[in-house]
Amino acid sequence: EAKANGRNRAVVFHEHMNELLQLRHTVEGELREALRRDDQLSVSFQPLFTPDRKVMGAEALARWTHPKYGPISPAQFIPVAESAGLIEALGDAVLRRALEMGGHWPERTIAVNISPAQLRNPKFQSRVFELLALTGMRPGDLELEITEGILLEDEMVTTETLRAFRAAGIKIALDDFGTGYSSLNYLKRYAVDRIKIDRSFISQLGEDQTSSAIVQAMVTLAHAMGIEVTAEGVETEKQLTVLRDMGCNTIQGYLLAPPIDPDKAAALFAQGAVRAPQRRRRA
Ligand code: C2E
Ligand code: MG
Ligand code: MG
Ligand code: MG
Repeated sequence: EAKANGRNRAVVFHEHMNELLQLRHTVEGELREALRRDDQLSVSFQPLFTPDRKVMGAEALARWTHPKYGPISPAQFIPVAESAGLIEALGDAVLRRALEMGGHWPERTIAVNISPAQLRNPKFQSRVFELLALTGMRPGDLELEITEGILLEDEMVTTETLRAFRAAGIKIALDDFGTGYSSLNYLKRYAVDRIKIDRSFISQLGEDQTSSAIVQAMVTLAHAMGIEVTAEGVETEKQLTVLRDMGCNTIQGYLLAPPIDPDKAAALFAQGAVRAPQRRRRA
């Protein structure tokens, strides 16, 4: 009985694996096609704010709308792109569009997510400088978001590339901060300009004391090292208030703005700020 059960489970598992592999294969093929055609991929921009709701810039986020399957989440297709060797082409397309935006909006920060494979490519450095020259974007307005993992590898090309970027005034941000395990050590070793505290820490802010203590400690530590702090995934007024009181520099999240298309982001840049909700009057 138990044996038969185990065997059934194994069969089911195999079938499931096959389906997954099949699916991955399909996604990979479809993504390859999307990159070749260049009409399914786009870039959204999620505005970044000061704690008093002024628009500082935006983070570029890759979007893929498949003609048959509809929108596919980057959480699904970025890993596929990475393992299939497609991330450099995809990343370059995002970078191009992000820097075009940056060229039109001096003094707004445009942040772009960079995959390890891009950073490891020795040609990446010159490509970034080429695109800056082509779009007229100022290096000081560009922020490259990397994850701790890439620093952990401690590769020469990567270290050199990051050094060259910073020398040119390009900012480096550590994305999803707090989810890796080497955070503090690497902050000291590699100079970065910003940490982006992961949404998982922000969601409990104001609800439980431990989260508040952790976030406060991160902010204090970063500031002591001359590093700015962005809070990711801010969804409530309460979280915004707590973060403002802690001295957090930049706010990103659905509360103030979700990722939006480039035209809408440009309109918000022109507008300059969003309004606080009206306080309800007592009758
Ligand atoms: P990320 O860089 O940490 O980007 C923030 C993610 O959080 C975005 O998800 C954004 O839509 C989402 N988000 C923002 N505010 C809120 C909020 O208030 N609540 C919640 N629940 N979520 C919020 P998205 O666009 O699905 O992207 C997921 C991840 O995919 C990104 O996380 C990034 O790691 C990766 N990614 C996206 N575009 C690119 C790209 O062009 N290149 C690379 N290498 N990775 C990318
Ligand atoms: Mg990011
Ligand atoms: Mg992030
Ligand atoms: Mg995140």
